[in-house]
Amino acid sequence: MEEVLLASGNPHKLDEVRAVLEPLGIKVLGLDDLPAVPEEPVEDALTFEANARLKALAYARDTGRNALADDSGLEVDALGGDPGVRSARWSGVNGTREERDSANNRKLIESLREVPESERTARFVCAMCLASPEGEVLAETRGTFEGVITLEPRGANGFGYDPHLHLPEEGRTSAELSPAEKNARSHRGAATRAMVPLLEAMTRD
Ligand code: IMP
Repeated sequence: MEEVLLASGNPHKLDEVRAVLEPLGIKVLGLDDLPAVPEEPVEDALTFEANARLKALAYARDTGRNALADDSGLEVDALGGDPGVRSARWSGVNGTREERDSANNRKLIESLREVPESERTARFVCAMCLASPEGEVLAETRGTFEGVITLEPRGANGFGYDPHLHLPEEGRTSAELSPAEKNARSHRGAATRAMVPLLEAMTRD
């Protein structure tokens, strides 16, 4: 397999996955590279794994290509694992990706205002699934990225909740890391790297 579809319209996710796979000779197509973008499946499953699987299977079936899908989000321990699978639309505000991200981040600050910093442990989680057009799940991987939620956003890189995930050993937030630094540590970087041997084995078959 020299080419794989990443079933996402999020340019940040595409950049992050491309940065890992393209140096290995695996071309990553985004939904916008397709002649026609298939209808988006409803992501109504209760786990990251199940959502990644339903997206990968739907896009592989609808495009006739092997499809890789990522489902990711933020788990905050003091919020019982919320926003979790609802991370993208947690605030209920519709609008552009930037508007939704800002509203989600405001809700995060409000929800944790009374929680001491030592109890604001959290992680990004990424589940990835690779599926075939025949409806087979070819591979599944997972990565996590641990940190502490800071109420003061810092940094301009990345997207979503990145300015609020403080990394104590780095003394920086995820949004203060360069793209390469984030990929070396992040949930999506880990899940993508775990896919590499599986993708390479398929290339050889
Ligand atoms: P998805 O597109 O359904 O997987 O939703 C993922 C949501 O989780 C995004 O909209 C962000 O709010 C959040 N998220 C996932 N990965 C990251 C990340 O790397 N940085 C910041 N926020 C993330």
